[in-house]
Amino acid sequence: MSSDDMTMSAGRKARPRIDLDRQTQLAAEALKKALAERDLPAFYRVFRSTDLPFLGRIYEGDAAGLFRACAHVLHRLGGISPAVALAVENHFYVTSAIATFPIADDARLDARRRALLSEVVEGRRLVANTNSRVHADRVNAVGTRARKVPGGHVVSGAASYTSLATEGDLLIFTTALEEGFPAVFMTRPRGNPAVEIGPYLFPDAMLDSDTRRIVFHDLFVPDEDLLLGGPGPEVVQLLLFEMVWHQVLIPSLYLGAAAQAIDESRRFLRTVRGRDGAPLAELDGMVVDIGRLVIRYRAACAAVREAGEAMGTIASARDRAERLPRLYELAGAAKYTGTRCAEETVSAARGIVGARAYAGDGALERLCKEVVFGPLGPEVNAVIERAHGRRALGEGEFDGAASSPWLDGAMSASGKEETC
Ligand SMILES: Cc1cc2nc3c(=O)[nH]c(=O)nc-3n(C[C@H](O)[C@H](O)[C@H](O)COP(=O)(O)OP(=O)(O)OC[C@H]3O[C@@H](n4cnc5c(N)ncnc54)[C@H](O)[C@@H]3O)c2cc1C
Repeated sequence: MSSDDMTMSAGRKARPRIDLDRQTQLAAEALKKALAERDLPAFYRVFRSTDLPFLGRIYEGDAAGLFRACAHVLHRLGGISPAVALAVENHFYVTSAIATFPIADDARLDARRRALLSEVVEGRRLVANTNSRVHADRVNAVGTRARKVPGGHVVSGAASYTSLATEGDLLIFTTALEEGFPAVFMTRPRGNPAVEIGPYLFPDAMLDSDTRRIVFHDLFVPDEDLLLGGPGPEVVQLLLFEMVWHQVLIPSLYLGAAAQAIDESRRFLRTVRGRDGAPLAELDGMVVDIGRLVIRYRAACAAVREAGEAMGTIASARDRAERLPRLYELAGAAKYTGTRCAEETVSAARGIVGARAYAGDGALERLCKEVVFGPLGPEVNAVIERAHGRRALGEGEFDGAASSPWLDGAMSASGKEETC
């Protein structure tokens, strides 16, 4: 990106211009080729050569714009391979959260954030992450611990999930400090014997997401790589903020799979004829079935877009405290609606296309196998349903009845209180 590529509007910081459509198309073509040739590193080489991994820097100070850009890329890649799009999404959500978490009031944290973003952009780094969750006999079990030592911490233990595990240059991970408080650290896993990148977590599914178990063998992390940790409210706010980003970007990719499935149905219905010789697309029942899928897809996209645009309302430490909990709910509803819609749409498309979906020459087979992972994370649907149910059943009227969803200033994309 040269300085010629900078745009400047009155009173606003220069923003590098990027041809998002063209670069997304480049990545999409590279992904198709890499899947056909079973050479995913080739896709990542092209992806790293574009500006797409660095959208967080390009859209600095514009969280809603960053959401739209990331969601656009993910929607396109998700229509080709939900698993690869999931790996890319993990890079996007972590870097987006770091780029947009409002900490301008804290010079030390801001400097740490800038150093990290510079390392990502200048080194063309990809970022993997783990929340250190392990599959144990209790939900939400954390498998790693960080022990304070002079100059840093020593981390040990295991984590079940790390997508993008072998392509990630940096690993941002959440763990528990000895006193039990959460902390977010960064490390460079490549060639580091203290970070063991283990086998695929799902040996027969989602292989292209490169989701692997990971073990920390007394990994020393210097103090400068502790991003945030301890009892302060900003630690929980960062984790919440990261989760909001995750929950709005995940459905974006799976809705890309839904859109592709509708297109696969369209192609099938227009090219295959019924017993009477007319294209199946002319059957009124098919028109209705596809119409219903399209309406649900559009409604789900609208829910995701509303939550994504609302990222722009978190612009200060005060917003973090006051608005984040509501935005977290909105993002949960978007993820729930978007991923369920995607799974149901792909399944309906399979019903329309029939057995030839598995005949090996279309995209539907891959979408069918991978879209089922949408509803499974990051936050499980059982938790999202209960959070919304509990709030609606609590003291006071249900807020949708007491007010309306359209004049709720806390959720408006502009961040301004809106009135009639
Ligand atoms: C393909 C894939 C890739 C992933 N990649 C990453 C990654 O790179 N980094 C990372 O940190 N994480 C990753 N994750 C993990 C993700 O962020 C979530 O932690 C994970 O999906 C949670 O699912 P779980 O089944 O492990 O949850 P669990 O909490 O073990 O829940 C299992 C089941 O228990 C029930 N349950 C749980 N809690 C409740 C409750 N409160 N009330 C009622 N029932 C409940 C539900 O039926 C739920 O489905 C990935 C997940 C997937 C599927």
